[in-house]
Amino acid sequence: MTSFHLNILKFSNIIKINSTTSSSRLLQLRNMSLLKNKSGPIKVADKVAHFKQDVWSIFTPLAAQLNAVNLGQGFMNFPPPDFVRQAAIDAINTDGCNQYAHPKGRSRLLKALAKSYSPLFNRTLDPETEVVVTAGANEGLYAIFAGFLDDGDEVILMEPFFDQYIANITMNGGVPVYVPLRPHGDTNKIMSSSDWKLDINELRSKITPRTKIIVLNTPHNPVGKVFSKEELLEIGQLVQEFNLLLISDEVYDRLYYKPDVHERIANLPGLWEHTITIGSGGKTFGTTGWRVGWSIGHKDLIKTVLSAQTRIVFCVNSPLQEAIAISLEEAEAHDYYEKHISSYEQRREKMCKALSDAGLPYTIPQGAYYVLANIKGIKIPEDYEYPENLNGRPRDFKVCYWLAKEIGVVAIPPSEFYCEGNRHLGEDYARFAFCKTDETLEAAAKALLKLKKYINE
Ligand code: GLN
Repeated sequence: MTSFHLNILKFSNIIKINSTTSSSRLLQLRNMSLLKNKSGPIKVADKVAHFKQDVWSIFTPLAAQLNAVNLGQGFMNFPPPDFVRQAAIDAINTDGCNQYAHPKGRSRLLKALAKSYSPLFNRTLDPETEVVVTAGANEGLYAIFAGFLDDGDEVILMEPFFDQYIANITMNGGVPVYVPLRPHGDTNKIMSSSDWKLDINELRSKITPRTKIIVLNTPHNPVGKVFSKEELLEIGQLVQEFNLLLISDEVYDRLYYKPDVHERIANLPGLWEHTITIGSGGKTFGTTGWRVGWSIGHKDLIKTVLSAQTRIVFCVNSPLQEAIAISLEEAEAHDYYEKHISSYEQRREKMCKALSDAGLPYTIPQGAYYVLANIKGIKIPEDYEYPENLNGRPRDFKVCYWLAKEIGVVAIPPSEFYCEGNRHLGEDYARFAFCKTDETLEAAAKALLKLKKYINE
């Protein structure tokens, strides 16, 4: 090649570079002008854009606004026990409790959880590998879904389900699949939560090659059902047959009423390797705002929960972990669990009597702190006016609004705990939370008597 040819080559390269630069610059300028022309709100991600206003942000503010008796959201309106509160004060006053914890949890809490739960799981739990502390049970669930779901993986939920599950699944690329618990018997009469049954063949029919997880909730919110060993064996058999992960949401595990006992599915033969059990410090010690929960399971499962949750919250708030650790250590000495159950037994009785006196049929819960009442017979004037945010919502939303406004008691509409296609299964009910003081339950009982004249016999 001559020097002339070489020069031509160099020159054409320069031109090429320049022309590439200028065309990309043009493109950039065009995009910028498009950007400048764009107006309006910043686009919301598709995974969030479809969220409707959640049921809690409708009914909790409504209770305050109307000064109604609030039996809606499941939180206690009484303080945690003295020893639990003192534990939090002591933790904050202890050097070393106020900085980051290890992502898996503070060592004292991991040890206290392992000690407290080992007898309940019939095994010696390793605090280092089989337990992880989460920011409430809710973040634990989110971390499990984040850790195990690929896009399009299916998660089977039993209806009615705790509404938070759905967003936790879909935000992590999963697809919820539904199977309802159905009441067997006359729903116009008082029934037991054990009458709400899962059709195991219906559950089997929902399993596909994309099924990854089944979520179980026992004791159940909002039905109050405590699954029997026989029912758990049937579910467990499917889990093993299809090699699935089972999430057992047992946040109400310390709250079940005689003669029922809380059985743990992770204890059934062959299921430890398949199950992550979720627990809650908030439910156990009446501290729902502390956001301390845990996941317990086989080390290979917990390892994944930990790696996801490290990237979600890094670690859970440290002093309140210490406080829950101390509470677990001291609970037995205070006979806490027995007293806890018997105080809730009394509340359950008060709640059920209030509904009986008002003329509403209901489901007696075997566990947890909710009663589902049948509101089908309540007759509301046809021309009653509802606020705009209830447009298009099922009948139970309307009845719960009316209940709050005209009767003065707030309950939660459980159709929110069903998928779109099955909402009708929930719209004849309202959920009353009884984790409230005697005064509150008595005020509710009095107000509910006003219902009598609106109930069709
Ligand atoms: N688990 C409680 C309930 O069902 C709280 C729900 C919530 O605050 N999102 O009422």
